Amino acid sequence: MIERRLSFIIAGLTVFFMSAVLWNLFAPTKRRSRRDAPVDSTSVVVARADTAVAPGRRAGDATVSQGGQSPAPLAPPVSTGESGPSYMELLARSETRRRIRASAGYTYLNEVVAQSEDSMLHRWDNRILSPVRVFLGPGTAANFQAGFLDAVRGAFQRWQEAGVPVRFNFDADSTSAEVRFRWRLQFEIQRTGQTDLSWDQDGHLVSGVVTLATFDPAGRPLAVDDVRVVALHEIGHLIGLDHSSDSTDIMFAMTKVRDLSPRDIASALLLYQLPPGTLR
Ligand SMILES: [Zn+2]
Repeated sequence: MIERRLSFIIAGLTVFFMSAVLWNLFAPTKRRSRRDAPVDSTSVVVARADTAVAPGRRAGDATVSQGGQSPAPLAPPVSTGESGPSYMELLARSETRRRIRASAGYTYLNEVVAQSEDSMLHRWDNRILSPVRVFLGPGTAANFQAGFLDAVRGAFQRWQEAGVPVRFNFDADSTSAEVRFRWRLQFEIQRTGQTDLSWDQDGHLVSGVVTLATFDPAGRPLAVDDVRVVALHEIGHLIGLDHSSDSTDIMFAMTKVRDLSPRDIASALLLYQLPPGTLR
């Protein structure tokens, strides 16, 4: 009798373990990406953007990689509720997509959306009265010049004068800042600037780190005006733009021009007329 019971128990355990093995073999593996993704409590996505510019008349001829990472959201990424987006939300997204399509030609927002892995518009929100806190301090890298700080502030001013409705406050220290600037000697790959952003699940930007080099990838020291050009491009990323495929735009990946184009300005202004967030 005892033997019989034991064999029942053993049979039961065997079935249990077999089920566990089968589950491991065939269960969905969605969660795997969580491990290698940076996750913090407020942001669900981190993007990386970069640019390259060479000193002198001729601006950057470097190749640039651009891409984003998608750290696993803690909740399912698409719909926030079990019922998914409401009809009104879907209608609003459809209208946003229509406006972006209609702007093709005089803006490159359609390209920005296409490059966004999550089909999201990302931007700062309501930051006129409450400016984004920026830490912009001197660097210790060789060739750092005090004039670089003015060049970066001038680049912010240029975007602001173009009408982008975001204000930046440079009084923040590095701990209280939402955006931090860092200086480094050179990138190991072909770029002279890089912007890393994070945003919440609604597409509102929440923080950023902008890294600027003091030498270009070929080892030539950057001049003050080169830093201004790199900063114009990186601030474009900082306000939510991505690359344009047109070399006459400052947001062209390998920046050739030295000022904002009408398309840069129109793209940024349209971005700030549209609600951030997913367009799916
Ligand atoms: Zn870039």
